[in-house]
Amino acid sequence: MWKGTKLYSVLFNKCPHCHEGDFFVTKNPFDFKNFAKMHSNCSNCGELFMKEVGFFYGSMYVSYGLTIALGVCMYLFMCLLLGLSELSFLIAFVVASLVLWTTIFRKARLVWINLFVKFDANSKMGRVK
Ligand SMILES: [Zn+2]
Repeated sequence: MWKGTKLYSVLFNKCPHCHEGDFFVTKNPFDFKNFAKMHSNCSNCGELFMKEVGFFYGSMYVSYGLTIALGVCMYLFMCLLLGLSELSFLIAFVVASLVLWTTIFRKARLVWINLFVKFDANSKMGRVK
């Protein structure tokens, strides 16, 4: 349905170039031993995921932004909508951040690489990019 959009690649851990091959080795973000392991290339189109040494350092900024967005959404929901105290928000935010940090880490990397790689529906293995 969303295939061809960058959101599809980010949500379903797919290659940003072809949206077919998996980006991370495991689909489970709570597999703490392997959650950060990425394929070096896409299994479908051969897209190189590690563009250069330190390429994913920039995803730390995305990770920061995603965490702030989570905090703002939680604050609006808990404090303004439900009328809960700031302390309960703070506790819930710390717990949510600890539980979701691997997910945020992975999504930040996918958002980051999607900023630089364009989707190509006709990409196949061996084709010159
Ligand atoms: Zn691919």
